[in-house]
Amino acid sequence: MIPVAFDYVRPSTLEDAVAALSSAADEAKILAGGQSLLPVLRLRLAAPALLVDLAGLPGLTGTRLDGDALVIGAMTTHAAVASSPLVRQHAPLLAAAAGTVGDRQVRHRGTLGGSLAHADPAADLPAVAAALEAVYVVQGPGGRREIAAGDFSVDLFTTALSPDEVLVEVRLPSTAGWATHYEKFHRTAQAWAIVGVAVAVSRSGETIGEARVALTNMGPVPHRARAVESALAGAPAVAEAVAEACAGVAADTAAVDDLSASADYRRELARVLTTRAVCRALGV
Ligand code: FAD
Repeated sequence: MIPVAFDYVRPSTLEDAVAALSSAADEAKILAGGQSLLPVLRLRLAAPALLVDLAGLPGLTGTRLDGDALVIGAMTTHAAVASSPLVRQHAPLLAAAAGTVGDRQVRHRGTLGGSLAHADPAADLPAVAAALEAVYVVQGPGGRREIAAGDFSVDLFTTALSPDEVLVEVRLPSTAGWATHYEKFHRTAQAWAIVGVAVAVSRSGETIGEARVALTNMGPVPHRARAVESALAGAPAVAEAVAEACAGVAADTAAVDDLSASADYRRELARVLTTRAVCRALGV
Protein backbone atom coordinates (compact mmCIF):
# COMPACT_ATOMS: atom_id res chain seq x y z
CA MET A 1 0.00 0.00 0.00
CA ILE A 2 0.98 3.63 -0.33
CA PRO A 3 1.41 5.70 2.86
CA VAL A 4 -0.85 8.63 3.62
CA ALA A 5 0.80 11.86 2.36
CA PHE A 6 3.25 13.44 4.77
CA ASP A 7 5.69 16.34 4.91
CA TYR A 8 9.39 15.55 5.19
CA VAL A 9 12.26 17.48 6.76
CA ARG A 10 15.92 16.57 7.09
CA PRO A 11 17.34 18.89 9.77
CA SER A 12 21.07 19.47 10.03
CA THR A 13 21.21 20.00 13.80
CA LEU A 14 19.73 18.11 16.74
CA GLU A 15 18.14 21.33 17.99
CA ASP A 16 16.35 21.77 14.66
CA ALA A 17 15.15 18.17 14.79
CA VAL A 18 13.70 18.68 18.27
CA ALA A 19 12.12 21.98 17.16
CA ALA A 20 10.51 20.26 14.16
CA LEU A 21 9.10 17.53 16.42
CA SER A 22 7.82 20.10 18.92
CA SER A 23 6.16 22.22 16.24
CA ALA A 24 4.14 19.25 14.99
CA ALA A 25 2.94 18.19 18.45
CA ASP A 26 1.97 14.48 18.24
CA GLU A 27 1.73 14.55 14.44
CA ALA A 28 5.44 13.97 13.71
CA LYS A 29 7.54 10.81 13.56
CA ILE A 30 11.29 10.41 13.54
CA LEU A 31 12.72 8.51 10.57
CA ALA A 32 15.96 6.60 11.22
CA GLY A 33 16.69 3.50 9.08
CA GLY A 34 13.03 3.13 8.12
CA GLN A 35 13.09 -0.66 8.54
CA SER A 36 10.19 -0.63 10.97
CA LEU A 37 8.59 2.74 10.32
CA LEU A 38 8.18 2.42 6.56
CA PRO A 39 6.25 -0.88 6.74
CA VAL A 40 4.05 0.71 9.42
CA LEU A 41 3.35 3.68 7.12
CA ARG A 42 2.72 1.49 4.09
CA LEU A 43 0.21 -0.59 6.07
CA ARG A 44 -1.34 2.71 7.25
CA LEU A 45 -0.99 1.63 10.87
CA ALA A 46 0.33 5.17 11.42
CA ALA A 47 -0.27 8.34 9.44
CA PRO A 48 2.08 11.06 10.72
CA ALA A 49 1.78 14.48 9.11
CA LEU A 50 5.55 15.01 9.25
CA LEU A 51 8.63 12.79 9.05
CA VAL A 52 11.79 14.15 10.68
CA ASP A 53 14.72 12.34 9.08
CA LEU A 54 17.76 12.05 11.36
CA ALA A 55 20.10 10.96 8.55
CA GLY A 56 21.63 14.43 8.12
CA LEU A 57 22.55 14.94 11.78
CA PRO A 58 26.19 14.92 12.76
CA GLY A 59 27.31 13.07 15.87
CA LEU A 60 24.57 10.43 16.09
CA THR A 61 26.64 7.60 14.64
CA GLY A 62 29.70 5.77 15.88
CA THR A 63 31.10 4.32 19.07
CA ARG A 64 33.47 5.72 21.68
CA LEU A 65 34.66 5.07 25.22
CA ASP A 66 33.83 7.54 27.98
CA GLY A 67 35.56 6.38 31.14
CA ASP A 68 34.42 2.79 31.58
CA ALA A 69 31.23 3.34 29.56
CA LEU A 70 30.84 2.39 25.92
CA VAL A 71 28.81 5.06 24.12
CA ILE A 72 26.99 4.22 20.88
CA GLY A 73 25.23 6.84 18.76
CA ALA A 74 21.54 6.15 18.17
CA MET A 75 21.94 6.23 14.36
CA THR A 76 24.65 3.56 14.35
CA THR A 77 23.48 0.68 12.16
CA HIS A 78 23.18 -2.89 13.38
CA ALA A 79 25.97 -3.86 10.94
CA ALA A 80 28.30 -1.21 12.38
CA VAL A 81 27.48 -2.29 15.94
CA ALA A 82 28.11 -5.95 15.10
CA SER A 83 31.48 -5.27 13.47
CA SER A 84 32.82 -2.55 15.81
CA PRO A 85 36.00 -3.67 17.63
CA LEU A 86 35.04 -1.41 20.57
CA VAL A 87 31.59 -2.99 20.88
CA ARG A 88 33.04 -6.47 20.52
CA GLN A 89 35.43 -5.76 23.37
CA HIS A 90 33.21 -3.79 25.76
CA ALA A 91 29.75 -5.15 24.94
CA PRO A 92 30.30 -8.51 23.21
CA LEU A 93 26.68 -9.51 23.93
CA LEU A 94 25.37 -6.53 21.93
CA ALA A 95 27.76 -7.14 19.03
CA ALA A 96 26.64 -10.78 18.83
CA ALA A 97 22.93 -9.97 19.04
CA ALA A 98 23.14 -7.14 16.47
CA GLY A 99 24.60 -9.65 14.04
CA THR A 100 21.42 -11.77 14.32
CA VAL A 101 18.98 -8.95 13.44
CA GLY A 102 17.06 -9.55 10.22
CA ASP A 103 19.17 -9.92 7.11
CA ARG A 104 22.11 -8.02 5.62
CA GLN A 105 19.96 -5.28 4.13
CA VAL A 106 18.10 -4.72 7.41
CA ARG A 107 21.37 -4.62 9.36
CA HIS A 108 22.87 -2.05 7.01
CA ARG A 109 19.84 0.29 7.17
CA GLY A 110 18.34 -0.34 10.61
CA THR A 111 19.77 1.51 13.60
CA LEU A 112 20.30 0.73 17.26
CA GLY A 113 18.24 3.76 18.30
CA GLY A 114 15.43 2.84 15.92
CA SER A 115 15.22 -0.67 17.28
CA LEU A 116 15.13 0.52 20.90
CA ALA A 117 12.64 3.33 20.22
CA HIS A 118 10.33 1.08 18.19
CA ALA A 119 10.04 -1.24 21.24
CA ASP A 120 8.80 -4.30 19.38
CA PRO A 121 8.52 -7.11 21.95
CA ALA A 122 10.12 -9.49 19.42
CA ALA A 123 13.11 -7.19 18.78
CA ASP A 124 16.43 -8.53 20.03
CA LEU A 125 18.27 -5.41 21.12
CA PRO A 126 15.94 -4.06 23.85
CA ALA A 127 16.47 -7.20 25.97
CA VAL A 128 20.19 -7.03 25.35
CA ALA A 129 20.24 -3.39 26.47
CA ALA A 130 18.27 -4.36 29.59
CA ALA A 131 20.74 -7.14 30.44
CA LEU A 132 23.67 -4.74 29.95
CA GLU A 133 21.99 -2.12 32.16
CA ALA A 134 22.19 0.46 29.40
CA VAL A 135 21.35 4.10 29.97
CA TYR A 136 19.58 5.98 27.18
CA VAL A 137 20.45 9.63 26.62
CA VAL A 138 17.56 11.56 25.07
CA GLN A 139 17.21 15.18 24.01
CA GLY A 140 14.02 17.21 24.02
CA PRO A 141 13.04 20.88 24.12
CA GLY A 142 14.13 21.12 27.78
CA GLY A 143 17.59 19.63 27.19
CA ARG A 144 19.00 16.17 27.85
CA ARG A 145 17.89 13.51 30.28
CA GLU A 146 18.88 9.91 30.94
CA ILE A 147 16.55 6.92 31.12
CA ALA A 148 17.61 3.52 32.47
CA ALA A 149 16.93 0.65 30.05
CA GLY A 150 14.64 -0.95 32.62
CA ASP A 151 12.40 2.14 32.57
CA PHE A 152 12.50 2.80 28.83
CA SER A 153 10.12 0.21 27.36
CA VAL A 154 6.78 0.72 29.09
CA ASP A 155 4.39 -1.36 26.95
CA LEU A 156 3.97 -2.89 23.49
CA PHE A 157 5.62 -0.48 21.02
CA THR A 158 5.56 2.19 23.74
CA THR A 159 8.53 3.84 25.45
CA ALA A 160 9.19 6.57 28.00
CA LEU A 161 10.16 8.94 25.15
CA SER A 162 7.97 12.00 24.65
CA PRO A 163 6.90 12.68 21.05
CA ASP A 164 9.33 15.62 20.87
CA GLU A 165 12.35 13.73 22.23
CA VAL A 166 15.18 12.15 20.22
CA LEU A 167 17.15 9.17 21.48
CA VAL A 168 20.70 10.44 21.02
CA GLU A 169 23.00 7.76 22.38
CA VAL A 170 23.16 4.61 24.44
CA ARG A 171 25.67 4.25 27.28
CA LEU A 172 26.73 0.78 28.37
CA PRO A 173 28.92 -0.04 31.38
CA SER A 174 31.78 -2.08 29.95
CA THR A 175 31.37 -5.84 30.21
CA ALA A 176 34.81 -6.54 28.78
CA GLY A 177 35.91 -9.94 30.05
CA TRP A 178 32.38 -11.08 30.97
CA ALA A 179 31.04 -14.33 29.54
CA THR A 180 28.08 -13.48 27.31
CA HIS A 181 25.71 -15.13 24.87
CA TYR A 182 22.52 -14.27 22.97
CA GLU A 183 20.38 -17.31 22.23
CA LYS A 184 17.49 -16.86 19.84
CA PHE A 185 14.89 -19.29 18.58
CA HIS A 186 13.31 -18.21 15.30
CA ARG A 187 11.72 -19.68 12.23
CA THR A 188 14.03 -20.33 9.30
CA ALA A 189 12.13 -17.99 7.01
CA GLN A 190 12.56 -14.94 9.23
CA ALA A 191 14.89 -13.74 11.96
CA TRP A 192 12.38 -12.40 14.48
CA ALA A 193 12.74 -14.15 17.83
CA ILE A 194 9.94 -16.40 19.04
CA VAL A 195 11.96 -16.24 22.25
CA GLY A 196 15.41 -14.74 22.80
CA VAL A 197 17.67 -14.80 25.85
CA ALA A 198 20.47 -12.33 26.60
CA VAL A 199 23.00 -13.47 29.18
CA ALA A 200 26.04 -11.78 30.71
CA VAL A 201 27.89 -13.35 33.63
CA SER A 202 31.10 -12.52 35.38
CA ARG A 203 33.12 -15.45 36.61
CA SER A 204 35.55 -15.89 39.44
CA GLY A 205 37.38 -19.15 38.97
CA GLU A 206 34.90 -22.01 38.94
CA THR A 207 32.11 -19.89 40.42
CA ILE A 208 29.64 -17.53 38.75
CA GLY A 209 29.95 -13.96 40.01
CA GLU A 210 27.32 -11.44 38.87
CA ALA A 211 24.66 -12.63 36.42
CA ARG A 212 22.33 -10.68 34.12
CA VAL A 213 19.56 -12.38 32.17
CA ALA A 214 16.89 -10.70 30.03
CA LEU A 215 14.31 -12.29 27.74
CA THR A 216 12.92 -11.21 24.37
CA ASN A 217 9.25 -11.79 23.50
CA MET A 218 8.11 -13.15 26.85
CA GLY A 219 5.76 -10.21 27.39
CA PRO A 220 5.16 -6.69 26.11
CA VAL A 221 8.56 -5.42 27.30
CA PRO A 222 11.96 -7.09 27.85
CA HIS A 223 11.81 -9.33 30.91
CA ARG A 224 14.69 -9.11 33.35
CA ALA A 225 14.89 -12.49 35.09
CA ARG A 226 15.98 -11.26 38.52
CA ALA A 227 15.26 -14.53 40.38
CA VAL A 228 17.45 -16.48 37.95
CA GLU A 229 20.19 -13.87 38.28
CA SER A 230 20.15 -14.29 42.08
CA ALA A 231 20.15 -18.07 41.79
CA LEU A 232 23.11 -18.01 39.40
CA ALA A 233 25.22 -15.61 41.46
CA GLY A 234 27.69 -17.63 43.49
CA ALA A 235 26.65 -20.95 41.91
CA PRO A 236 29.30 -23.32 40.58
CA ALA A 237 29.92 -22.83 36.85
CA VAL A 238 28.70 -26.29 35.90
CA ALA A 239 25.77 -27.35 33.71
CA GLU A 240 23.75 -29.03 36.48
CA ALA A 241 23.82 -25.94 38.71
CA VAL A 242 22.94 -23.70 35.76
CA ALA A 243 19.94 -25.87 34.82
CA GLU A 244 18.68 -25.77 38.40
CA ALA A 245 19.06 -21.98 38.62
CA CYS A 246 17.26 -21.43 35.30
CA ALA A 247 14.38 -23.87 35.87
CA GLY A 248 11.86 -21.22 36.97
CA VAL A 249 12.82 -18.50 34.48
CA ALA A 250 9.35 -18.29 32.94
CA ALA A 251 7.47 -18.13 36.23
CA ASP A 252 6.74 -14.40 36.35
CA THR A 253 6.77 -13.65 32.62
CA ALA A 254 3.76 -12.41 30.63
CA ALA A 255 4.09 -14.72 27.61
CA VAL A 256 1.13 -14.70 25.22
CA ASP A 257 -0.31 -17.00 22.57
CA ASP A 258 0.14 -15.75 19.03
CA LEU A 259 0.47 -17.13 15.49
CA SER A 260 4.09 -18.15 16.12
CA ALA A 261 3.74 -20.02 19.42
CA SER A 262 1.52 -20.68 22.39
CA ALA A 263 2.35 -19.15 25.75
CA ASP A 264 3.09 -22.63 27.16
CA TYR A 265 5.51 -23.35 24.34
CA ARG A 266 7.22 -20.00 24.92
CA ARG A 267 7.60 -20.71 28.64
CA GLU A 268 9.25 -24.07 27.94
CA LEU A 269 11.46 -22.46 25.28
CA ALA A 270 12.51 -19.80 27.78
CA ARG A 271 13.66 -22.47 30.23
CA VAL A 272 15.59 -24.43 27.62
CA LEU A 273 17.12 -21.38 25.94
CA THR A 274 18.13 -19.67 29.18
CA THR A 275 19.90 -22.79 30.41
CA ARG A 276 21.58 -23.15 27.01
CA ALA A 277 22.57 -19.48 26.84
CA VAL A 278 24.20 -19.49 30.29
CA CYS A 279 26.01 -22.76 29.55
CA ARG A 280 27.24 -21.44 26.19
CA ALA A 281 28.39 -18.19 27.79
CA LEU A 282 30.34 -20.16 30.41
CA GLY A 283 31.54 -22.78 27.95
CA VAL A 284 30.18 -25.65 30.08
P1 FAD B 1 12.84 3.30 11.93
O1 FAD B 1 12.06 2.25 11.23
O2 FAD B 1 13.26 4.47 11.13
O3 FAD B 1 12.03 3.84 13.20
C1 FAD B 1 11.37 2.94 14.07
C2 FAD B 1 10.65 3.73 15.17
O4 FAD B 1 11.59 4.30 16.07
C3 FAD B 1 9.82 4.90 14.64
O5 FAD B 1 8.68 5.04 15.47
C4 FAD B 1 10.74 6.09 14.79
O6 FAD B 1 10.01 7.29 14.91
C5 FAD B 1 11.48 5.73 16.08
N1 FAD B 1 12.86 6.23 16.14
C6 FAD B 1 13.87 5.87 15.32
N2 FAD B 1 15.02 6.44 15.72
C7 FAD B 1 14.73 7.19 16.81
C8 FAD B 1 15.50 8.02 17.66
N3 FAD B 1 16.83 8.17 17.51
N4 FAD B 1 14.87 8.64 18.67
C9 FAD B 1 13.55 8.49 18.87
N5 FAD B 1 12.75 7.71 18.10
C10 FAD B 1 13.34 7.07 17.06
N6 FAD B 1 14.63 -6.45 14.49
C11 FAD B 1 15.12 -7.32 15.40
O7 FAD B 1 15.38 -6.90 16.52
N7 FAD B 1 15.34 -8.62 15.09
C12 FAD B 1 15.08 -9.12 13.87
O8 FAD B 1 15.34 -10.31 13.63
C13 FAD B 1 14.54 -8.24 12.88
N8 FAD B 1 14.24 -8.69 11.65
C14 FAD B 1 13.75 -7.82 10.72
C15 FAD B 1 13.46 -8.30 9.45
C16 FAD B 1 12.96 -7.45 8.50
C17 FAD B 1 12.66 -7.99 7.13
C18 FAD B 1 12.76 -6.07 8.81
C19 FAD B 1 12.26 -5.11 7.76
C20 FAD B 1 13.05 -5.58 10.07
C21 FAD B 1 13.54 -6.45 11.03
N9 FAD B 1 13.85 -5.99 12.31
C22 FAD B 1 14.33 -6.87 13.25
C23 FAD B 1 13.66 -4.57 12.68
C24 FAD B 1 14.97 -3.81 12.49
O9 FAD B 1 15.83 -4.10 13.53
C25 FAD B 1 14.78 -2.29 12.46
O10 FAD B 1 15.99 -1.76 12.02
C26 FAD B 1 14.48 -1.61 13.76
O11 FAD B 1 13.38 -2.19 14.38
C27 FAD B 1 14.14 -0.14 13.56
O12 FAD B 1 15.28 0.60 13.28
P2 FAD B 1 15.26 1.73 12.17
O13 FAD B 1 16.52 2.49 12.31
O14 FAD B 1 14.97 1.13 10.85
O15 FAD B 1 14.07 2.66 12.69
